[in-house]
Amino acid sequence: MSTSLRFKMVEEAFDRKAVAVDTPDARPEAYYGELVFNRKKMFEYLPLDVYNALIDAIKNKKPLGRDLADSIADGMRRWAIDNGARHYSHWFHPLTDGTAEKHDSFIDHNGKGGVVEEFSGKLLVQQEPDASSFPNGGIRNTFEARGYSAWDISSPAFILDKTLCIPTIFISYTGESLDYKTPLLRALNSVDKAATAVARYFDPEVNHVVSYLGWEQEYFLVDESLYSARPDLMLTGRTLMGHESAKNQQLEDHYFGSIPSRVEAFMLDLELRCHRLGIPLKTRHNEVAPNQFECAPIYEETNLANDHNLLLMSVMSEVARKHNFRVLLHEKPFAGVNGSGKHNNWSLGTDRGAQLFAPGKTPRDNFQFITFVVNVMAAVHKHNALLKASIMSATNAHRLGANEAPPAIISIFTGSQLSQALEAILASDSADFSVLKGKAGYSTGLSQIPEILIDNTDRNRTSPFAFTGNRFEFRAVGSSANCASAMIALNAAVADQLADFHAKVEKRRAEGTALDDAILAEVKILIEQSRAIHFDGNGYSDEWKEEAARRGLDCETSAPKIFDAYLLPESVAMFGRTGVFTEVELEARNEVKWEMFTKKIQIEARVLGDLALNHIIPVATRYQSMLIENACKLKELFGDSAASLSEGNLEVIEKIARHIAKIRTAVHAMVDARKKANTIMDERHKAIAYHDTVLPQMETIRYSIDKLELLVDNEMWPLPKYRELLFIR
Ligand code: ADP
Ligand code: MG
Repeated sequence: MSTSLRFKMVEEAFDRKAVAVDTPDARPEAYYGELVFNRKKMFEYLPLDVYNALIDAIKNKKPLGRDLADSIADGMRRWAIDNGARHYSHWFHPLTDGTAEKHDSFIDHNGKGGVVEEFSGKLLVQQEPDASSFPNGGIRNTFEARGYSAWDISSPAFILDKTLCIPTIFISYTGESLDYKTPLLRALNSVDKAATAVARYFDPEVNHVVSYLGWEQEYFLVDESLYSARPDLMLTGRTLMGHESAKNQQLEDHYFGSIPSRVEAFMLDLELRCHRLGIPLKTRHNEVAPNQFECAPIYEETNLANDHNLLLMSVMSEVARKHNFRVLLHEKPFAGVNGSGKHNNWSLGTDRGAQLFAPGKTPRDNFQFITFVVNVMAAVHKHNALLKASIMSATNAHRLGANEAPPAIISIFTGSQLSQALEAILASDSADFSVLKGKAGYSTGLSQIPEILIDNTDRNRTSPFAFTGNRFEFRAVGSSANCASAMIALNAAVADQLADFHAKVEKRRAEGTALDDAILAEVKILIEQSRAIHFDGNGYSDEWKEEAARRGLDCETSAPKIFDAYLLPESVAMFGRTGVFTEVELEARNEVKWEMFTKKIQIEARVLGDLALNHIIPVATRYQSMLIENACKLKELFGDSAASLSEGNLEVIEKIARHIAKIRTAVHAMVDARKKANTIMDERHKAIAYHDTVLPQMETIRYSIDKLELLVDNEMWPLPKYRELLFIR
């Protein structure tokens, strides 16, 4: 790219006005969910008996009879066509990033030379996508070459870009899951079952416990033209080089600051699109880093919430383009400023309306609250290595341990009130929970400001897993991740813990202990046992790293080794008991994780090598030649006295030479390291080799390139700089 082109792009980016948004006159209640085959539409388009049977199947998690499928498919097709759809697609979540779709049109021969639009129950319920190229960790080679997708009736169909999308699971013919949704549904069933049994100790009428998820999606926006001038952003989702901007987030002036009008127009458009798709987006604001933003919906049942997050991520990318932006979902697109996460706010609630992690009004409510909270703490303690593995990826690794929740160690922040309550319970002999006050009213003393309710937790931003008053916030999840990974591990671990708790309470009761005493005794044991996971201090400090190691928490920092936690005997046993994963599935999935890790680093290394050799070194050399020429000319003009005049230039010439040499050496070393790693057959060892031998060379290369950026003439520098990428208005 010629230099003047870069400046032209930057100028244009700065001048770009907000794209006008078609804001409907109607209020959200008129268009909310209009692209979703929800109950209202089902009622309208399905015969009453079919509607009732479908609702019953959804509500009570019953299998759907094949006889109903034809009738449902027919109603769904009519609704979809009435709303402009031409195609249908099974929509599933393979083990890659994002979602997969294969579109088929509704048309079929009508036998008279023309076509009719049709959709059968068979096509609705099950399909065989040619999925041989989806990652499967060897399952499909070892077992059966085919896979099939099957309708998940608990998540409603929707219309996206004139295509009827049917949320499905994706499994192999032998039943192994090849996706995220299958194990998520298994984990949710398992936590429902286990938590219901325990919740019945407090309310015998409980029939189901539902897991809820409210995600907070962080992201960056970059102007489209600048984005396309950065091959690293385009190909890897992050900048592989770039010197820090003199101003970035030091002034903390971006967080909650006013939203630039271009961005606001994008957000409004996104919200409108999401609301029509039934995604209840509610919150939007600036984040800490420049050009970083966040949106969050009203929380929903976990499976649906996750579908909505995946849908949001794809809708977001599309809407951003319309506004001449590119959305960056990568966890660390820019070094030196905050990365992006996706806090997973998670809770359990009964079908009777009780929130199991919310302190209540009565001591009995609080007994239930403590019981559930303590079981979560025990589960997170027992499986802390696994939970860390569940959020780990090549991209999230850049956040981990880099002074951003997540630290590389999983711990739970409870806040002072809950900590005190736990200690008080340990010290008491009876189930007296009056120590918990619930939400206390707090008067501001200002008559124009009403009484505010204070959360009974203080906030701690450094904790990867925080109790926040009525829910837990799993903050370590990465911005580009499928939340299912974290939700599978967490719900399964908690299910397994609750089942164990229930069994132990039952044993005590069988031995003649009264119910409350049995529960209390087990609760106390769990508080004692899980002490190590409880940490309210600064998760970023070095003291904590030492302390955590002493406490026996998992402190591994290398991503490929962190994945090992899935195959620990206690993980395999837990996933087996809860029916979430078989050992075969776990092994296959880890193969995929290691392979993905390797591939991501491999791509980054290639892009970085190309940029270094083809973009950076030539430009730096050209600038250096200019300086050399200048020094020679000075000598011609001034003779010996030129030495003092070109001192500065000579220094720069030398520095450039050194950095160029360093870059060349490191690129060669990186290529060699890659070649060597590529000969390793074992995926785990290969990933470790990439982590240990390729990544460090990449850092060396970047260091020198970033130094060159400061030395070389700004006009000649071939790539948009951080200050240009990050401060678009
Ligand atoms: P904050 O930035 O303070 O963490 P946000 O409003 O950005 O809060 O996001 C909080 C998220 O937590 C929202 O999606 C919200 O719906 C969700 N949430 C609130 N209560 C619960 C709950 N009981 N269970 C699950 N998610 C919840
Ligand atoms: Mg939050």
